[in-house]
Amino acid sequence: MKNKGVPSLSKSLKINFKAWRILFKEYPHILLSNIFVAIWGALSPYVGIYLAARVIDELSSGKDKNTIILLVAATLVAEAIIALLTALLKKYKNTQSAGMYYKIENIYTRKLLNTDFATVDDPKTQELLTTIRQNRNGGGWGIYRMIYDVEQLVSALFSALGGISLTITLFTQAVPENAGDFVVLNNPLFIIAIIAAMVIITCTAPLLDSKAQSYYAKLAGTLNLGNRLHGHFGQVCAEKRYAEDVRVYRQHVYCEKYGNDKTTTFGTKGTFSKYSKGPVGVLFAISAAISEVFTFIVYVFVCLKAWAGAFGIGAVTQYVSAVTKLSGSFSNILRTFGEIKNNAPFLQLELDFLELPDKLKSGEEHVEQLADDDYEVEFKNVSFKYPGTDIYALKNVNIKFGQGRKLAVVGRNGSGKTTFIKLLCRLYDPTEGTILLNGKDIREYDIIEYERVFSVVFQDFALFAMPLGENVATSAEYDMKKVEDCLNKAGFSERLASWKDGLNTVLYKELTEKGVEISGGEAQKIAIARALYKGAPIVVLDEPTAALDPIAESEIYANFNSIVEKKTAIYISHRLSSCRFCDNIAVFDSGEMVQYGTHAELLSDKDGLYSQLWNAQAQYYNKKED
Ligand code: ADP
Repeated sequence: MKNKGVPSLSKSLKINFKAWRILFKEYPHILLSNIFVAIWGALSPYVGIYLAARVIDELSSGKDKNTIILLVAATLVAEAIIALLTALLKKYKNTQSAGMYYKIENIYTRKLLNTDFATVDDPKTQELLTTIRQNRNGGGWGIYRMIYDVEQLVSALFSALGGISLTITLFTQAVPENAGDFVVLNNPLFIIAIIAAMVIITCTAPLLDSKAQSYYAKLAGTLNLGNRLHGHFGQVCAEKRYAEDVRVYRQHVYCEKYGNDKTTTFGTKGTFSKYSKGPVGVLFAISAAISEVFTFIVYVFVCLKAWAGAFGIGAVTQYVSAVTKLSGSFSNILRTFGEIKNNAPFLQLELDFLELPDKLKSGEEHVEQLADDDYEVEFKNVSFKYPGTDIYALKNVNIKFGQGRKLAVVGRNGSGKTTFIKLLCRLYDPTEGTILLNGKDIREYDIIEYERVFSVVFQDFALFAMPLGENVATSAEYDMKKVEDCLNKAGFSERLASWKDGLNTVLYKELTEKGVEISGGEAQKIAIARALYKGAPIVVLDEPTAALDPIAESEIYANFNSIVEKKTAIYISHRLSSCRFCDNIAVFDSGEMVQYGTHAELLSDKDGLYSQLWNAQAQYYNKKED
């Protein structure tokens, strides 16, 4: 996904305003601190310029000792106050801007958490977010650049104001009538011609800069890909998880080959280099040269007026500095408008993401608190297609379960088992049909209350690099006894006893040396304990023993009833032997529920899929060693 070309200035400004509002709402002090520093930084140099000119004037004309002492003292005091306030403001800005990368990431994260899962899971959303991050990391485009542009624009505007106030008299102070040919300097046409020349040069340099920048903006897609490839090949061989494979298959040779290729995007014969040596380099060089012509004109004009007696020698330094600053400020204003335009398409991508529709529509109904967790779920003619696909992942599923029953859902990989759970948990809404909880469409319930009905262990669950107890309780405050009890039920008590810090033991080593690495099976037990701690009336375990060794697996089966107690439980597995203890078994195939019944009933249907799967697995387990 590339940016779609540079929009007009007014459209670009609208896009920037929208992004400013979003950033201001989340982190007002980032923008405020940048604006204050910009204003102060723009105006304060003029104090020094003005006072220095007065000192030089006094030295070259009046030479009054007391006035000179007073002016020097005023200059020193003013400079000291300026330095102090500058330091304070910079400190404020640095504090606010610290961790900016993560602050901006936080804005994305909050959006992801407030957006419904179907949108987050949509490949288009993921691609959009990847592009936004690449634009930021590769070219500094997007909100990052917007913050910089705000600072530049405010600084340039205030600097221009300061410059104007110190420059006006350059044009209004006339040379004396007896100055001979120099009198031409008073001629309004001459003054207009000088101002016109200055304005033309002032405008040309930033326009050339902006044109040069626009090449980079247009190349963003190519540069992003280049960054992605460089990032990938530059780091992949150093990553711990690839360490064994890289060595065994000598994969670093690929990476070196990529790194040494001069024709890659950032190679000396690549796209970036071609543009830098070509149009971009030429435009930047002309822009810099033109600025020097401006300085030349200013010096000549100011010196001629001073020579002719329009003002004293001190004013020469004031005017040269002020006019140069004024011109620089105008250039910066134009340059920043150019940047604002170039950045707008990248900001628009961020707005596209941040303006994605929020959460799945929540209903208003309360979920009843039923005694004995007596909840009943029914799927009525439920079909579902994932966003962006034409294939049914679930087809016309009809099933009713609940009231403390244990349901096993079995089937080959890709048969729709996990999708069934995702719909049940309202991560997605059905494409067709209805899911009912206690007779009411689940879309009518308040979504937060509905989510509380389920404790789920997904296959790809995530534990954080935080203390064990906090992981189980998903909170910093927790009931120790209850956490220990849940870990015990999940078969983790022995391992817990071996850790001297107990529930305070930090998982993984990402954040602390003292962290412990755990196996996949141990992680799965902790995830089961977390589901139990939540204490929801319906427990869902998706392949809960896939990463466990046979002993741990048999422990979980043996304790299954005590683990889930009287709760309704849904148990997904493709190891059929583990489903026998369930009251009913639903067999899925290609998105359809093809069989439903008890283990004995399903096994008695010799031609049924369950029988086939059962016999295939039994054969495998019964096979004698050769
Ligand atoms: P199971 O849990 O039985 O292995 P799933 O429910 O995960 O099967 O998948 C059912 C079908 O839906 C498969 O064809 C799978 O490729 C597809 N599928 C699963 N997740 C997604 C997704 N996020 N986007 C598109 N298709 C998906």
